[in-house]
Amino acid sequence: MPIYEYRCNQCKKEFSHLFLNPKEISKVKCKFCNSSHLTKLLSSFCVQQTEESRLKNFDTSKPRGENFYRDSRNVGLWAKKRMRELGVDLGSKMDEIVERGRTGKILEEYNK
Ligand SMILES: [Zn+2]
Repeated sequence: MPIYEYRCNQCKKEFSHLFLNPKEISKVKCKFCNSSHLTKLLSSFCVQQTEESRLKNFDTSKPRGENFYRDSRNVGLWAKKRMRELGVDLGSKMDEIVERGRTGKILEEYNK
């Protein structure tokens, strides 16, 4: 169930649209003026987004808001993306670290 954000080329308003049916994507219209001249913006939120597309849409140069880390699936994403940008491939080890960070187990280990 992806949510896409659009900017209307006609009235310049921005809106997001939740697609329940993938077929709707090609016939989306502006909520305000009904124009179909839309520019698709990066989706800022996506239900069931794969980690791969999260990483792709993830811009490490921009500050992340508070809400970002309320989604626990985003924890560790930054580190992972930075690693990739730097050409460091930790493979499954990174996944393990990130997973521990996400679940809070990493803290338990520090407290030992
Ligand atoms: Zn419009």
